[in-house]
Amino acid sequence: MSIRTRLTWQFTIIVTSILVLFFAFIYFFYADFRKEEYYSRLNTKALTTARLLIEVQEIDHDLLKIIDKNAVNVLHNEKVVIYDQNNSLIYSSTDDRELHIDTSTIQKIRKQGRVEWVHQMNETLGITYDEGNTHYVIIASAFDVYGRRKVVNLRFILVACTLLGIAITFIAGRLFAGQALRPIANINQQVSGIGGDNLDSRVDEGDAKDEIAQLAINFNKMLNRIASAFALQKNFVHNASHELRTPLAAMISQLQVGLAKERTEEEYKNLLNSVLEDAERMKGLSNGLLELAQAEADKMGIRMQPVRIDEVLFSSQRDVLKANKERSVELAFSELPDQEEALIVMANEGMLRTLFINLIDNACKFSPDSKAVVSIAFANTKVLLSFNDNGIGIPAEEQDKIFMPFYRSDNARQFRGHGLGLSICKRIVKLHGGEIHVKSEPGAGSTFEVELPNT
Ligand code: ADP
Repeated sequence: MSIRTRLTWQFTIIVTSILVLFFAFIYFFYADFRKEEYYSRLNTKALTTARLLIEVQEIDHDLLKIIDKNAVNVLHNEKVVIYDQNNSLIYSSTDDRELHIDTSTIQKIRKQGRVEWVHQMNETLGITYDEGNTHYVIIASAFDVYGRRKVVNLRFILVACTLLGIAITFIAGRLFAGQALRPIANINQQVSGIGGDNLDSRVDEGDAKDEIAQLAINFNKMLNRIASAFALQKNFVHNASHELRTPLAAMISQLQVGLAKERTEEEYKNLLNSVLEDAERMKGLSNGLLELAQAEADKMGIRMQPVRIDEVLFSSQRDVLKANKERSVELAFSELPDQEEALIVMANEGMLRTLFINLIDNACKFSPDSKAVVSIAFANTKVLLSFNDNGIGIPAEEQDKIFMPFYRSDNARQFRGHGLGLSICKRIVKLHGGEIHVKSEPGAGSTFEVELPNT
């Protein structure tokens, strides 16, 4: 069931319930009022008849009958009977319409003083009337033709009003629900037209004030994020193929030139060395891409285990120095923690080593003295590592871009690299629930700070 139909029905049910409740109250209140009013008229009639017969000497049984029949306010189907204390009928207003009253009813009236009941559709009232030592019982009965007709009429009006009310509420509810949901229907239509080829389209944000406009704004924000992720992805493929093509093109042209004519042994050696250099560059790039792909993998697939951070740092230091003896890596522990647990992080050891080697490598690579200083400190629940150098530094406007794949700052172009190391580092840190930041000043050096949660 659509929201519009559901809202319409809910609205109709609520209004119908209110209408029925109020109309029922009006109907029963009015019907009760009619009954009470009619019984009070019967009461007056009964008392008047009794007083005329019992208290007024000049009026006898026959005269009272004549008066009763000719009164202007005579009620429809009216009949009044009076019984004396022996329960003998002493007066009956008419002879033709019999009012059958048994002795038990008369006794009940005597006992209760006043009894109301309906006898063959006629409202009937029995009361007691005392004159001296004589206790009379008067019973008046009549049919409330006008009152009952009014009640039937009122019932008809109320039922008609209820039905009309339901119809109007349903139509109005449907119109209002349609109007209220129109902006959502519009957004729905616009969203269904957005795909990979028109990611720059945005949905209409309306007056930017109500909840639906807020939904459109948030949806547009999400589209912005998707579009930039999409662009990044496109860029990545473009950059990766470009980076692979350059050394490949260099290798092919060198080999073509080398094969063009006979060369000396020395020339062949130089050629092979140059091709080897390019092949190693390609190996470095494909290793970087592989590491990035591994770091991009789902966290669930990565084996995490308790790892002593100082041990991984020492082994990373050894690896860097083994690869290039001219570099120097200094490890500075501010103060050792009281408990060994502070040194332990839940991590994938291989990834942690890749992270440290990349950061140490960069610090050495971009510094004239080829020196990296790594310091380690401990906070309450974290291990804080900083990789410091006195190198070329990074311009402020490029500091948040260097974590994107293939991004290299202008002042780093003279150094070897593909611009993948830091994006791998960022992903590894994220996988371990940590954070990475850079502080740097061009010409003065850089510090990369890594925070990792410990056990
Ligand atoms: P690569 O080192 O291969 O260029 P990275 O992703 O490791 O790629 O680094 C991206 C860029 O960040 C570098 O090209 C360089 O511009 C900058 N950068 C990284 N580390 C340093 C550093 N220690 N000193 C100065 N610049 C750095």
